[in-house]
Amino acid sequence: PFDVLVIGGGPAGAAAAIYAARKGIRTGIAAERFGGQVLDTMAIENFISVTHTEGPKLAAHLEQHVREYEVDIMNFQRAEELIPAKREGGLHEVRLANGASLKARTVILSTGARWRQMGVPGEDEYRNKGVAYCPHCDGPLYKGKRVAVIGGGNSGVEAAIDLAGIVAHVTLIEFDAELRADAVLQRKLASLPNVRIITSALTTEVLGDGGKVTGLSYKDRNKDTLHQVELEGIFVQIGLVPNTEWLSGAISLSRRGEIEVDHRGETSQPGIFAAGDCTTVPYKQIVIAMGEGSKAALSAFDYMIRLPVE
Ligand code: FAD
Repeated sequence: PFDVLVIGGGPAGAAAAIYAARKGIRTGIAAERFGGQVLDTMAIENFISVTHTEGPKLAAHLEQHVREYEVDIMNFQRAEELIPAKREGGLHEVRLANGASLKARTVILSTGARWRQMGVPGEDEYRNKGVAYCPHCDGPLYKGKRVAVIGGGNSGVEAAIDLAGIVAHVTLIEFDAELRADAVLQRKLASLPNVRIITSALTTEVLGDGGKVTGLSYKDRNKDTLHQVELEGIFVQIGLVPNTEWLSGAISLSRRGEIEVDHRGETSQPGIFAAGDCTTVPYKQIVIAMGEGSKAALSAFDYMIRLPVE
């Protein structure tokens, strides 16, 4: 069995595997797609101490760093079931889609999350060419330009307030008749001079010139009319979904499906830890995922050295 079995090969999982392997304990990492969301990212400018890099490059560096150590890397493997140990200190089991079953003294879950998409024409075509999902990451790229934020929940309104301080103009588009964000956020938004709020609007298409976004079209749901807005960027803020469906019943998840962890990264099951975008830890970012992954590995090691000698 593994001493530490990491599920997920994004920034959190890679950091966890490296920290565990450096303790000289038997470490494995299984991932559906090594690199995670980083693979889908173009410019990264907030990975501290690296002024600029690209997602695929960072993903390759993650894998290269893990390969420096004796880590059993199982890429293209999807975990489907977690069976926690029956007694404290016993072995946990993870079942993979290929039928294999992995056993480990400690498990670190780092399966990340995915942004909910609008599912309209142009969204895929113009991803990273004007269609963005993370204001902390891509906001500064739109300095002085016009953008839309899709979604009037807390994350959409937070994004609109954040972006209004950087870009020339923000159009916030909400499907329902009113915004769903907290009142204090809505008041703040309403006080900003360069924000327009459109409610009862369904985004129907991302418009572009073949190379980049030039606008969007939406349907006024009250009048059933189509409208266009000219702009350079679209931030989609209609939800970040944790990849934790396979864990329900095995460990405690929040209402939003995030894995509940304590300040050491431990889940509701002793010996099972979690890190990164799949957890309740706020702000889904690469440096944060790496820090949390490192923390979870150190906590797993700490847990192991306290297990009774067999
Ligand atoms: P992920 O990167 O999501 O990795 C999850 C891993 O788990 C993957 O290997 C996946 O294949 C695997 N997995 C999932 N389910 C299973 C399963 N059942 N079994 C096995 N493996 C599984 N952050 C920044 O800091 N700066 C940026 O500029 C930036 N730009 C971004 C741009 C885009 C387009 C996107 C989508 C995100 C961006 N982010 C950025 C966010 C950043 O990518 C994430 O915060 C970070 O990747 C989270 O790391 P993670 O390891 O927790 O999860």
